[in-house]
Amino acid sequence: MSYEANVRKVVPYVPGEQPKVTNLIKLNTNENPYPPSPLVLKALKDMEEKIERLKLYPDPTCEKLIDAIAKAYKVDKEKIFVGVGSDDVLAMAFLAFFNSDKQVLFPDITYSFYDVWADLYRIPYKQIPLKSDFTIEPSDYFIDNGGVVIANPNAPTGEALALDKVEEIIKNNPDVVVIVDEAYVDFGGVSVLPLIERYENLLVVQTFSKSRSMAGMRIGYAFGNPKLIKYLSDVKFSFNSYTMNATSLELGAAAVSDKEYFDKTRNMVIKTREWTKGELKRLGFTFADSKTNFIFAKSDKLPGKVIFDELRARNIIVRRWDKERINDYLRISIGTDEEMQELIKALEEILK
Ligand code: PMP
Repeated sequence: MSYEANVRKVVPYVPGEQPKVTNLIKLNTNENPYPPSPLVLKALKDMEEKIERLKLYPDPTCEKLIDAIAKAYKVDKEKIFVGVGSDDVLAMAFLAFFNSDKQVLFPDITYSFYDVWADLYRIPYKQIPLKSDFTIEPSDYFIDNGGVVIANPNAPTGEALALDKVEEIIKNNPDVVVIVDEAYVDFGGVSVLPLIERYENLLVVQTFSKSRSMAGMRIGYAFGNPKLIKYLSDVKFSFNSYTMNATSLELGAAAVSDKEYFDKTRNMVIKTREWTKGELKRLGFTFADSKTNFIFAKSDKLPGKVIFDELRARNIIVRRWDKERINDYLRISIGTDEEMQELIKALEEILK
């Protein structure tokens, strides 16, 4: 006899490596190469005066942060939910909204946390193959199901699905919740946020980790109609009332209020991405037309694993999956101009 039979055994998600050494060009986890807004630093310094605040539990309603998001996006605060990164928001949403015996649908190539949450919660699911060009066919999602999850733009492909196509998926699934994960939308995608006014089954999830340079703070958020947000909030308060710590609430509110800095840095990332696309093309790489802060690229000259290892030997880390259909692809996060110049120099050497 053993306790083993009673344990919930799961195969965990494996996050990209966070190396302990600093002399690396780190292009493996889609972080922003620029620091957070100067207003975030100011808010952090202000925390020193408010140090007594840390004796107390944080505000479980996260009002300050939600108010700041409401103001920035001109959305009512009843339509906003916040969590510890969008991973936390998505995990809560899977728990709240996928409570059916029917299969939840998401693409075969997408954010590899979706199947992990589904397995964790014992949610049945079906992975719908992307087309050969790595795009989503909306009509594949018009079948009977227990919910739908779409990352748009998708990861790791970088491919964006047009707004009307996403709307078709939402419109054809009125009996289930459709989650649109917009982690990368600020780098050139089009958000379905306005559609929450028309579709009560739509949850739009975004994050501070990419376009707001705050991956280390862990802040994510979702938009949906007030009833959907109430269901999500009920699950949160049934799990952990205090997901957001006092510092995240302050620093997050500061970050989202700085539109000027947000626009400046995301445009810098977009500009560097477009330059990198041109250089990768020159070197013979093929890739989808990324609307994100990464490029998912493949060379016909060498296997993905060889290029990955050669880059690593030159202190450049990118991401690669040992997975059917994509094992020759490298997902390259967009760094600074200098970092991308180093990357291109290294690739020239490797491929010559
Ligand atoms: N969704 C997608 C598609 C992602 O790539 C990521 C980043 N790993 C996340 C959600 C989660 O990001 P975070 O928890 O940092 O908000």
